[in-house]
Amino acid sequence: MSGGAIPLSFRESVERTEARIREACRRCGRPREDVRLIAVTKYIGAGEMRELLDLGLRHFGENRWQQARPKWEAIGDEAVWHFIGHLQTNKVKDVIGRFTYLHSLDRLPLLEAVQKRAALLGIRVPVFIQINVSGEATKHGLKPDELPAFAAKAAECPNVRVEGLMTMAPHEADPENTRPVFRRLRELRDELNERAILPEPVRHLSMGMSNDFEIAIEEGATWLRLGSVLLGR
Ligand SMILES: *Cc1c(COP(=O)(O)O)cnc(C)c1O
Repeated sequence: MSGGAIPLSFRESVERTEARIREACRRCGRPREDVRLIAVTKYIGAGEMRELLDLGLRHFGENRWQQARPKWEAIGDEAVWHFIGHLQTNKVKDVIGRFTYLHSLDRLPLLEAVQKRAALLGIRVPVFIQINVSGEATKHGLKPDELPAFAAKAAECPNVRVEGLMTMAPHEADPENTRPVFRRLRELRDELNERAILPEPVRHLSMGMSNDFEIAIEEGATWLRLGSVLLGR
């Protein structure tokens, strides 16, 4: 390393991040236990993930099966696995059954494939429906107005349980600018529940990354997906 800052230990960066989460919760009057934390481990290997386990982190998020596979094989059910990236239909057989949660349910053929695989395994998979709130062409996810019809389809799938909605905000130099995106996701969840399209109320909002998690907490995030800030990079 040439002339760069000395990297923080995981302990330091996890503690600093935790303090920021607590402070954001305090600011908006939410209990800390309302906000759950997924450590996004796509940047690190199984050895470093063990350090995170030792620090008490248990929820790990990965966005590609190929890269996650050796880590999953090393750590397995010592952790709870969240699949957070775009999932190709031909990878459903690899991911469903190994990852507990799917955060990126974004199209009908994927819903059908997940239902089929979960039925075969005799499990019920907790999923998040991904919404492209910002409308950026580079982002995956349903358009907000497609949600009610999609949720009605999900309600017909006995092996899929909709836990919540997920979104990714655009990267903004001023994180305050992400607020309308997070607020809209919360409104979409509330509208879904008012219309009772799903058999059980949808509780969770998977939103907030390193750049914008404090704003996401203020707007109701219940699952944060944090990579770089948590790992001190
Ligand atoms: C990489 C990734 C994250 C974490 O990003 P950071 O900015 O490093 O916190 C969160 N969600 C998804 C879907 C990702 O791919």
